[in-house]
Amino acid sequence: MLRKDLNIHTYNDLLNHFPFRHVDKTQVDSIAELNQNNEYAYVAGKLLSLELVGENRGKRLVGKLKDGSSIIDLVWFQGINFVQKVMHVGHQYLVFGKLGFFMGTPQIAHPEIENFSPQKMDGKVTLEPIYPSTEKLKARGITGSVFGKFTAELFLKITPKDLPENLPETTLTEYKLMRRYEAYKQIHFPATEKHYQHALRRLKFEELFFAQMRMQITRMQRHRFSKGNVFESVGDLFNQFYNNYLPFTLTGAQKRVLKEIRKDTGSGRQMSRLLQGDVGSGKTMVALLCMLIASDNGFQSVLMAPTEILATQHFIGISEMLKDMPVKLHLLTGSVKAKSRKEILKDAEDGTANFLIGTHAVIEPKVNFKNLGLAIIDEQHKFGVAQRAQLRDKNTIPPHVLVMTATPIPRTLALTAYGDLDYSVMDELPPGRKPIETIHRNESARSQIMDFIKIEIAKGRQVYVVYPLIEESSTLDFENLMKGYEEIKSFFPEPKYWISMVHGKQDAVVKENNMQRFVKGETQIMVSTTVIEVGVNVPNASVMVIESAERFGLSQLHQLRGRVGRGADKSYCVLLTGKKLSNDGKERMKIMVSTNDGFLISEKDLELRGPGEIEGTRQSGALNFKLASIVNDKVMLEFARDVVEKILEVDPDIELNENEPVKNYLISQKGKTKWSKIA
Ligand code: ADP
Ligand code: MG
Repeated sequence: MLRKDLNIHTYNDLLNHFPFRHVDKTQVDSIAELNQNNEYAYVAGKLLSLELVGENRGKRLVGKLKDGSSIIDLVWFQGINFVQKVMHVGHQYLVFGKLGFFMGTPQIAHPEIENFSPQKMDGKVTLEPIYPSTEKLKARGITGSVFGKFTAELFLKITPKDLPENLPETTLTEYKLMRRYEAYKQIHFPATEKHYQHALRRLKFEELFFAQMRMQITRMQRHRFSKGNVFESVGDLFNQFYNNYLPFTLTGAQKRVLKEIRKDTGSGRQMSRLLQGDVGSGKTMVALLCMLIASDNGFQSVLMAPTEILATQHFIGISEMLKDMPVKLHLLTGSVKAKSRKEILKDAEDGTANFLIGTHAVIEPKVNFKNLGLAIIDEQHKFGVAQRAQLRDKNTIPPHVLVMTATPIPRTLALTAYGDLDYSVMDELPPGRKPIETIHRNESARSQIMDFIKIEIAKGRQVYVVYPLIEESSTLDFENLMKGYEEIKSFFPEPKYWISMVHGKQDAVVKENNMQRFVKGETQIMVSTTVIEVGVNVPNASVMVIESAERFGLSQLHQLRGRVGRGADKSYCVLLTGKKLSNDGKERMKIMVSTNDGFLISEKDLELRGPGEIEGTRQSGALNFKLASIVNDKVMLEFARDVVEKILEVDPDIELNENEPVKNYLISQKGKTKWSKIA
């Protein structure tokens, strides 16, 4: 039972099944004083009655428990036979559980029950642990407090030797951390609330410490031992482009990041770098310049995008910029026809092609390179670990990897989920950008918004209207999109206006054609689903209307908004929602209206949704902390990172005596924990 339901197999698992709270058993609540503010109730009293009520699925067992002040209902929906056997009317019980109210009467469903004996109240038991359990286990009598009994028994058998210290002595003293054995004991059976807090702090630190330790070791080993292709110098191609065809001056941030990449790729070690830059910060140009440097040094490059549309746009944009340069590049996506595909593969294999731009098709096993030196992954979150791993096999010395994120991720998340990568930030937008004005309206303002769009189009601007299509297969969403399209068509009739529509169900050629008409300015309005979410660049577009905006997450909204504000004109983002919004929905709209800063938005997103929901980190085991939270324990996370960094600086191989506890622990954990290998 324990095994299957809670994944508890060993003593160690039991020790790590932490209580979610403690009750002070010297303090029972008075039933009369319970109110909606009490999340839990702990009461002592006499069982007045125990009766089955309701029928069929509504059948339940209700007990009435009375103390000196009032009566509370105890309710069971499952395990009824068991409860009827063990509880007796007229006996005294101690009862604990989550408090609810039903028609004004306080009640506890599936409470934890103990026989009440007055000696128990003598104050020798104080803070008693309450553990997470499952209904199924509870029905068998294994309630949250039964775990306490198992764990207490376990502590009678084990000594500090069984839970050896795993942090260096110096770290323990310097930061006043409780020892490991003591911390485990105190987190289960704290002497006082203060002891509990100390234990919690110690164990959270330990979690963060070892997560950082593993990441930083991986990163350091790459820095020390990996073999990387050397991009020795900047050559003719780069210089020719930089001097003659670069359409603007680079921002300071772009220059800085290029220098960081130059240093990595010249070092003889493999680069694995994460480039974070807000929407519109100009990541594509950084990618292109790196690819030119790779070519200068005799290496091929791939640039991968998550969608065909984006890959195509990169290809067209880059081809245009390189049209007078001796660089050969190909577009390779799933829809490239067999004949051209053959040629492309040949060019990649014999080295004729300098760049392959495309979707993940560019790293499929069939694609061989003469000398692949650099892989750039744009809008990273759509690429999995497996695909990154595929890259490694593309050359005897694995190519350098630059991962560019779609949306900034909070620093704590970056440290935790990508701590094994090096990390660059572009925190500067190209000059002359006007901040996007964001407004939130509900449906009743629709016709005003259409009028506004007319004015913008009259000025020569273009407009996006985006519909949610969270699941590409959802028919309801699809119908809404079609209805929206018809409605917009009636507001904006041909031939005065032309509308493009793009969605996931279209044939790739149709999609591409519609997209291109908008890019070229032949259509003024683009009605689409989120397929245009990432990367698309049409500087003349100045209005982004997001339909049912409440259905999008913050980072997605920010991405969509980033499609406008790319040219010199003032741009607008209109968030259209229903009249009734959840609190969470209101909060998201408020944040979007109040800031354009992607880093700030990502922090808020993390707070609202929690780390598990942030894109690209879902599979990352790095976030599976039992006690620590990267939202609430930010300060401690940074602190743990610094401590680890200092230790590794002095002792990179963890061979000093004082760090032996760390080494022993890491060895003992080998194979038990998985952390994803970096590309
Ligand atoms: P993102 O970082 O979102 O991928 P892009 O690479 O698509 O951003 O760049 C956004 C727009 O900014 C493009 O039109 C690009 O040509 C332009 N751009 C990039 N760098 C600069 C710069 N240094 N100065 C002016 N415009 C720039
Ligand atoms: Mg981009």
